[in-house]
Amino acid sequence: MAATEAPSNEQVYKVPLKVFVDRNENKVLFAEARKDFVDVLLSFLALPLGTIARLVAKESNIPPVKVGSLSSLYESVSHIEEEHLWTKTCKEMLLHPRTSMESYCQLLKLNIDDTHPTKYFLCEDLGCSRKTNGSLLSIFNNQRCSCGKLMNRIVYPEVITLQKGFVKETATFIICDDLSVLPNVLVTIVNLLQNLGVKDMGAIEEQTVDISKREVVDLLKLSLISKNPLTDFVFEKKPRVDDFNPINQSWFERGDESPDEGRKIVVRVLVRKSNEKIVFADAEEDFADLVLSFLTLPLGGVLHMLEGNSCLSCIDKLYKSISELSPDRYLRSQIIKEELANPKCAPLFSISDQILPIGEVSLPVYYCNTFIHGKERHVICSTSPRPRIYGYDMSSRLEIFDPKSCIGDSRSGKGFAKGPSTFVVTDDLAVTPMSSISAVSFLNRSQVPLYDLEERVISIGVKEGLGILKASLTSTSALTEGLKHLIRPLNRRTVHSLAI
Ligand SMILES: [Zn+2]
Repeated sequence: MAATEAPSNEQVYKVPLKVFVDRNENKVLFAEARKDFVDVLLSFLALPLGTIARLVAKESNIPPVKVGSLSSLYESVSHIEEEHLWTKTCKEMLLHPRTSMESYCQLLKLNIDDTHPTKYFLCEDLGCSRKTNGSLLSIFNNQRCSCGKLMNRIVYPEVITLQKGFVKETATFIICDDLSVLPNVLVTIVNLLQNLGVKDMGAIEEQTVDISKREVVDLLKLSLISKNPLTDFVFEKKPRVDDFNPINQSWFERGDESPDEGRKIVVRVLVRKSNEKIVFADAEEDFADLVLSFLTLPLGGVLHMLEGNSCLSCIDKLYKSISELSPDRYLRSQIIKEELANPKCAPLFSISDQILPIGEVSLPVYYCNTFIHGKERHVICSTSPRPRIYGYDMSSRLEIFDPKSCIGDSRSGKGFAKGPSTFVVTDDLAVTPMSSISAVSFLNRSQVPLYDLEERVISIGVKEGLGILKASLTSTSALTEGLKHLIRPLNRRTVHSLAI
């Protein structure tokens, strides 16, 4: 947000947060929070990784922060020319991915997700939407309808009800320094103080901190880089990035020997022999799509796939809290609990050949109903056809327009990266179309002597995909970390001559 922009009422909305600090240690012991604060904390899990990369790259009270390899991936997408993606909407989808939990987050008083909420559009030609078959409904403005006209007639489907966040109105919570969310009961506090080894109760002091969206962005940043986000936040300590050395246990070191079946993506990687690091992968559009799709994955869905072990210790704690909060007294319903524990991709945001076990929320079936009022024909979108006896002159079932698809091109609609084509993916997941860079200048920039480079051919299945995804959260060497077990000297084929 530009500093010159006048803050609206909503932007300066503040929620008081009561924190209990140990004056001797300059440490936050815990915070006591109500719905407004806890809802926004839990909403972190609904944010797609691309949204997180975008939000933490902005100034707040603390400087911009980079998240593992996601920040360079996000940055690279902002530089991809639209011609390398199936449609120009693909780029918008990757840079501003929607959350599938939009209906829960829109009413949050401290909602930090600045992505525009979903709107629905029909063809500008109402006659086209009145066809009995194959009329289209789009969730992006100005898509090209099958008739060639633009889809820019906004409609408001009736069934979209906004939910009031995640937790019950009257519930209160304890938030630990590591962002665990616990029920606010006396026993919890006693246990917590015992575990923290607090000896001098007299040194405990209560403070109130005002939380606006700006402070929530601070907390999001700290939750990704600090082990004690509340302490660092309240005492304005510099994020101690050096201290934050996640135990980056690889996905493969878990002794899980179950056979990895399913689709594989074959990529060629260039490894630097002297340090066994991947310099880059030379990949077709399927691997580029896998990496690009990371930006659309909700954080909670990533945690679900990684079984709660992301190596972002505070996010792991926050995620674990959901399983321990009862839907009878704390969360608004069992459904909310299940959705928060496993959020899916927003409608139409997943890629069709996704190897990762993440689903997509589907849109309901919508009907376009028209009626004449005065001299004009009006349109209403509903989930069931409207009968003629109520004055509707037509009702037709709408098909959902895939924003990743160019009308008339049967190969499209699968993913984001346009193929057949080659992409270069660097160790920190920057994705660049091969055609827009020169191989010579790229090798020059990587500063690796040619004799030190070696080619390996690797097939990537679900385990490898999860390995790269996990590493992307904390490491700027996501490919090397995620594929460590595959770049040992197997399948060795030295590059004697690089065709440059
Ligand atoms: Zn049309």
